[in-house]
Amino acid sequence: MTDQGVAERLEVVRARVADAAALAGRVPADITTIVITKLHPVSLVRELHALGVSDFGENRHQDARVKSEELADLDLTWHFVGQLQSKKARQVAEYARVIHSLDRESVVEALASQERVVDAFVQVNLTPDTARGGVEEGDLERLVERVLCTPGIRLLGVMAVAPLEGEPRAAFARLRAASERVRLIDPGAQFISAGMSGDYPEAILEGATHLRIGSAITGNRPTRA
Ligand SMILES: *Cc1c(COP(=O)(O)O)cnc(C)c1O
Repeated sequence: MTDQGVAERLEVVRARVADAAALAGRVPADITTIVITKLHPVSLVRELHALGVSDFGENRHQDARVKSEELADLDLTWHFVGQLQSKKARQVAEYARVIHSLDRESVVEALASQERVVDAFVQVNLTPDTARGGVEEGDLERLVERVLCTPGIRLLGVMAVAPLEGEPRAAFARLRAASERVRLIDPGAQFISAGMSGDYPEAILEGATHLRIGSAITGNRPTRA
């Protein structure tokens, strides 16, 4: 994969973000694009940083920790987007400025005694499969209340992955409704983490403020060895 390829893909995504924002009557400056670099080498992160990207995301703690250490010379914001184990949560919060996947009280509790306050999204499960990451919609308020009385966490809003089946826009509309419920409890928790390579324009139309985009920018992911 050449440098040209990454630069061009990034340009395409930036243009489509601007188009979708215009369509939604929003400004692109209110939308943060996080490039998900899972399984890609640190050299790709350096290339993207040189192209003006500073927000990066990973979904596995081991990989994320190694990458953030190897790239400590750059001023990057790391986002953790994967399923979080409560016994690893504090370690994740050492390098990740933002955690997108709070979905259980045990994880929230693990972050309570954090030294540095971590920004976080509560992940909502929009699929019928309860084994998938995310709190069930009916349990959302309870988890949010729990986060709000936890000193080590600043709640940013809600996050979701659109189900494989069905219209992504309809799923993102449900997430927007969940966001409105959260804002009744905490008006400051106004952000929405939604939208991946295949569906970010639809997410923008439903109010997404934080896009998590991998392959549309990085190219295909190498397979795990
Ligand atoms: C991998 C991943 C993404 C990015 O996926 P792409 O389809 O490559 O854009 C976004 N969010 C989460 C939670 C992921 O694990």
